[in-house]
Amino acid sequence: MKKSMTALPGDRLAVSEEFLPGLYAYDDSGSIRALVAGTVQRDTKNMEISVKPVVKPKVIRVGDRIVGQVETAQASSAGVKIYYVNGAPTDKDFSGSLSLRSSRSGRGGPRGPPVKLGDVVRCKVFSLLNGIIHLSINEDEMGVLHALCGNCGKPLLRGGNKAKCDECGNVEERKLAADFGRSPIQP
Ligand SMILES: [Zn+2]
Repeated sequence: MKKSMTALPGDRLAVSEEFLPGLYAYDDSGSIRALVAGTVQRDTKNMEISVKPVVKPKVIRVGDRIVGQVETAQASSAGVKIYYVNGAPTDKDFSGSLSLRSSRSGRGGPRGPPVKLGDVVRCKVFSLLNGIIHLSINEDEMGVLHALCGNCGKPLLRGGNKAKCDECGNVEERKLAADFGRSPIQP
């Protein structure tokens, strides 16, 4: 596997005899340097070196996929602190609201709440009505990714369509994402 190289603005990426400056790179009298912070990309076919800027999501849009943690849980809704937007970490203070009523419907779904406090969840943004980030977990790949046992605090593992604790035998119901329990978590 090729390890991706990152650069900060001004970093020397190559010498201009070897590479041409591509996007977000410039020729500084014989040295190709990075214009922005990001990942270095070498195009060895065209002998061009460029930088892919690190993009941090600043806004949330309908259809975005988020990964976060349940920080509040009530009977009808859960508050989710958003850590990742479309796979990229966000340093913004985004929080979304997940309706627990709509998530509960459907055959084979959990009888109790689909998510619990502290769960790491993957959700889809389905509405931004009234300035609230409304989340859903109805799709297969959406739902709980990681949860801790309510009894002993150990990470729960997948047992069929339920979450079970190998430590104490506790079984908990959630709306599990298809890849629940996989490590590392794919944001
Ligand atoms: Zn346990």
